[in-house]
Amino acid sequence: MTLYLKYRPQKIDELDLESVRVSLKKIIEAKSLPHGFLFAGPKGTGKTSAARILAKAINCEKNKDKLSEPCNKCAQCKAIEKGQSMDVIELDAASNRGIDDIRSLKESIALSPVNSRKKIYIIDEAHMLTIEAANAFLKTLEEPPSHVVFILATTEPEKLPATVRSRLILVPFKKANEAEINRQLTRIIKGEKLDVEDGVVSLIAKVSDGSFRDAAKILESLIVKNSIKFKEAKKYLLEVEEVNVEIFIKLLYQKDNLKILNLLQKMSDENVNPNRFIEALVEELRKALLSKEGVVNYTDYGFSKKEIISLIKLLISSSKDFSFSPIPYLPLEIAACKWCLKKKEPVIVKKKLKKTKKITPEPLVFNAFDEKLWFRFLSEIRGKNTTIEALLRATEPLSYNGSNLTIGVYYRFHKEQLEEQKNKSMLEKILEEVTGEKIKVSLKLTERKKPLPVKKEIPLTQGQDEDIIQAAKEIFGN
Ligand SMILES: [Zn+2]
Repeated sequence: MTLYLKYRPQKIDELDLESVRVSLKKIIEAKSLPHGFLFAGPKGTGKTSAARILAKAINCEKNKDKLSEPCNKCAQCKAIEKGQSMDVIELDAASNRGIDDIRSLKESIALSPVNSRKKIYIIDEAHMLTIEAANAFLKTLEEPPSHVVFILATTEPEKLPATVRSRLILVPFKKANEAEINRQLTRIIKGEKLDVEDGVVSLIAKVSDGSFRDAAKILESLIVKNSIKFKEAKKYLLEVEEVNVEIFIKLLYQKDNLKILNLLQKMSDENVNPNRFIEALVEELRKALLSKEGVVNYTDYGFSKKEIISLIKLLISSSKDFSFSPIPYLPLEIAACKWCLKKKEPVIVKKKLKKTKKITPEPLVFNAFDEKLWFRFLSEIRGKNTTIEALLRATEPLSYNGSNLTIGVYYRFHKEQLEEQKNKSMLEKILEEVTGEKIKVSLKLTERKKPLPVKKEIPLTQGQDEDIIQAAKEIFGN
């Protein structure tokens, strides 16, 4: 048996999510027991364990007069734990979703419990019920026999009809925080008498993304001869990440956008959490900055101080974009593209002003169409046509005058494809959706790196809006 199953909570006090512990205590202490519950929340957060505990508390032989914690010793508790109770029926809506299944469920509901106080139905993946099944089920919920309790569990409560939801008491499950994962892992470590070094538990809590199941799985995979060494755990868990951080920063220095995007794609395939990757990058760059200042002795990867600061700011502002990005890696991809568009720091050699040839500025200035719009435009396209979105990755907005947008394309082949009438119409249609304006698109073959005006360094104290405006200026000029 896996450690997750072996140490799944057996009573309310052992539930690791604090909010759920509090809710279930209130439920069993209430004067009357509601006949339906909805356990809703992400996978791996203990919904099924909690449902079984509630079922045991309701039918435990020791709880005849008043509900409280299950004893876990009586015949009822033991049968429920083994899944052998005649009166606690666990169903998976994904495989019992038809109208016939609900019909036989209705027949079974009408019958009194065999040898328990209540007949309890635990319906997992409840959002998978068909509409017909849900409607049939609703009728039962409207007039439930007094001997029945329903516990519906789901990761997607919004997919259940509102009429069904409104008849159930909602118990929300959230992703576990570090303290809650700690609590669970400590219980397992004590139970297994493992010798685990300091720091391991919080390291696992960090990488398990709020899932008790994942945390237990990781812990189990790290055990060697009944113990876990911090150094080994760190090496194992962060290896991929650390290697990538170093490679990634070197590529940023080389401004090799293509390799960067390929690396990000690979990491996305490997399910590396982009937010944590950014944290690691910022941490590494901070060390480089401190090294520049002589505080620590560390590599600076060849960057100037200004470059490190602006890179850190770019990464931090991209991590703020995560909450509204439809694709987890997109903000990081955009940050990398932005960075690679930046000109290398000019080396100031002489003071003497030489008369230089007047450079004629580009005729159109890309001003009103800012980078936020470009970002939204790309997201919109992605939702509709991934091929065009992929083609647009090797492009940049060159100029805009309110009615015409010129997009610079790096490769001839991409340009030809984007120029196909249906693709161009699609671009224009989405531009109109995003901006509310009718904008004509033209495509122009262009070099990857666009010469940029020398930018001014922004003081760290300035707000985020100004950062965005400044970043837009740096990319689009003026
Ligand atoms: Zn009992």
